[in-house]
Amino acid sequence: MLNTISFVSLGPGDPELITLKGLRTLREADKIYCPGTTDAHNKPVSRAALLIGMLDVKTPVTIFQLPMQKTRTQASEVYQTLVQQLIADVQSGLKPVVAAEGDAGFYSSVQYIYEQLIAADIPCNRIPGVPAFLAAAATAGIHLVKQEEQLHVVPGKTTIEELDRLITNRYTLVIMKLTQCDSILRQLILQHPDLEVHYFENTGLPNAFYTTDISALQNRPFPYFSLLIIRPEPR
Ligand code: SAH
Repeated sequence: MLNTISFVSLGPGDPELITLKGLRTLREADKIYCPGTTDAHNKPVSRAALLIGMLDVKTPVTIFQLPMQKTRTQASEVYQTLVQQLIADVQSGLKPVVAAEGDAGFYSSVQYIYEQLIAADIPCNRIPGVPAFLAAAATAGIHLVKQEEQLHVVPGKTTIEELDRLITNRYTLVIMKLTQCDSILRQLILQHPDLEVHYFENTGLPNAFYTTDISALQNRPFPYFSLLIIRPEPR
């Protein structure tokens, strides 16, 4: 009987926002694999590995590099290598874990690895976690959706027309991966100066930043770990 491979959600950045189950699973594992990239100086960086470093976990951590400008082929080579490694680990009796920031099933590349392992009949389970947008809404104390309101998540690739339509239809919007749509967002904000906009960077971390002052966003570069919540105007 093979060990089960757990996919652990680490939460958005505050080390106290991992679940007890997630933390216990990290501690009981033989190995932890985390996604990472390289910075401008080619140095490996992994938000997930940094987060694990803030927890009392002794299990060794291995970072697997996801190419920044990833083509499908490049990324799938990385996933396939990791899938083979994970299968070799469980076949030699080890208990490996794959960890990812936020929730590991919400815009999370590790889910592709999970799916490939399931297809290969390897037992897996996923431990849910707090996604960044829920943590962000909590830090701002906002009611993310209320009564009949609906939530719509936009993962970076969008157009001004799409955002206009969603705003007119009174959705609460969560916009993520802002580096992919920064000029569109600046244009949107100029066109709707009365929007209720909440902007967040690095939620849960010591360098967290939050503002509702949309004029402050015109010249601010949006880092990778930033998101926007736009609430419908009161009727
Ligand atoms: N699995 C993650 C989402 C990964 S997609 C989750 O559940 O939250 C990456 C995007 O998530 C980033 O571009 C950013 O928009 C958002 N994000 C993740 N962590 C964040 C944080 N601590 N603060 C602000 N945005 C964050």
